[in-house]
Amino acid sequence: MTSTDTAAIDPAVDAWLAERADDRLASYQAFLRIPSISALPEHADDCRATAEWIADDMRRIGLEHVEVAETGGHPIVYGDWLHATGEPTALVYGHYDVQPVDPVELWESPPFEPVAHDGSMFGRGSSDDKGQIHMHLRAAEALLATTGGLPVNVRYLFEGEEESSSVHLDRWLEANRERVAADVAIISDTGFFEGNIPSITVGLRGMMYAQIDVVGTAVDLHSGGYGGVVQNPANALATIIAALKGPDGRIAVPEFYDDVAALSDEDRSHFAALPFDEDAYLARLGLPELFGETGFTTLERRGGRPTLDVNGLWGGFQGEGSKTIIPAHAHAKISCRLVPNQDPDRIFDALRAYVAQVAPPGVTTTVRLLGGGLPSVTPVDHPVTQAAARALEATFGRAPVYVREGGSIPVCASFESILGQPVVLLGFAQPDSHAHAPNEWMDLGNYETGIRTIVRFWTEIADLPDEGA
Ligand SMILES: [Zn+2]
Repeated sequence: MTSTDTAAIDPAVDAWLAERADDRLASYQAFLRIPSISALPEHADDCRATAEWIADDMRRIGLEHVEVAETGGHPIVYGDWLHATGEPTALVYGHYDVQPVDPVELWESPPFEPVAHDGSMFGRGSSDDKGQIHMHLRAAEALLATTGGLPVNVRYLFEGEEESSSVHLDRWLEANRERVAADVAIISDTGFFEGNIPSITVGLRGMMYAQIDVVGTAVDLHSGGYGGVVQNPANALATIIAALKGPDGRIAVPEFYDDVAALSDEDRSHFAALPFDEDAYLARLGLPELFGETGFTTLERRGGRPTLDVNGLWGGFQGEGSKTIIPAHAHAKISCRLVPNQDPDRIFDALRAYVAQVAPPGVTTTVRLLGGGLPSVTPVDHPVTQAAARALEATFGRAPVYVREGGSIPVCASFESILGQPVVLLGFAQPDSHAHAPNEWMDLGNYETGIRTIVRFWTEIADLPDEGA
């Protein structure tokens, strides 16, 4: 289908949506106002309140079997509409938890006081991922209110621990297989390509997250009394970190690359075909130059190659002025983004073995695994991927590009491996959404048109031949 001379969606649904644009934004803001930071224990009640907010919204619009389900951590919200007899069933996934807001002083408006201006919504979670949950609910609401049903059967599963490695999700999925049975899983937690070009994500990197702890004495030592005669944990940590990567950007951990699927010529031509303005990308970052593994383009480094990054490091005196000590201990958080066919457990074992090998003597060094997830790649030619492509083209007026993204959504691999469902990543955030950073925002054009894309998408899936989904 080319860009529309007929309405992209049922005109009655479109009119219903158009009349309620202001209410919709008010509801979106109310949803963003609840500070559902999953990583911080003091926000546990807020996470639960957010789950309850969604459940109330689901019941109000006419979804059924709505439940705030216990997981042992932050709850999962489930709801469905299953009356499209003979039509496929889709499972929609999103996450209502958000990242912490530090450094809060860099926000131009408070992170949990969302404001709409200049065509965008600013606030934590506006694009990642509460905004996209809100879009799905609004699409369902519009269809239920105007047509009395959805064109396909849809189960909604919104979790509250995605930003904390989805620690309880897999066990919940295992225990609720029948409840979440579907022909396809739709994950809306991604975004458009550079230049805000509609896109479908067909690959995601996995993740291995670890912490390195270097411990010396029980308490800090006087650096005059003990300097030069004991190992300094902070220096030792620096030695370890320096050994992890070469100046060519290559990760020095033995066996790290053993399982990496090499990029085929076809993979590389997909990356090369994407409309990517590297100068604009660099300018937006405000950096003197980009840096990455030698021998790969920027998009290949981001979507098709693994990484190892220090996410934080600390130890010793952090205050103003000077304090002459040898710190008792020092620590680093390390994340690796993984590509097919790397396994997080295997990468952790390789890292731990290598750290043990390069750790200086005189201190105790340990490495522990904090979380992980498998990488995944989805077929471009899957009928549901193609249905999503038609829905995007009909509503945004432009055929989507297919992208392998740098991010990680561990649940993607869980849906594939635990539930055996193909996964289609249909996300609407603009590429520079400041996800996880200060001043997160959502383009309200993407938000509004995206709601119509979802409406159209359900119609496209219902129209697939029986074996389609
Ligand atoms: Zn997200």
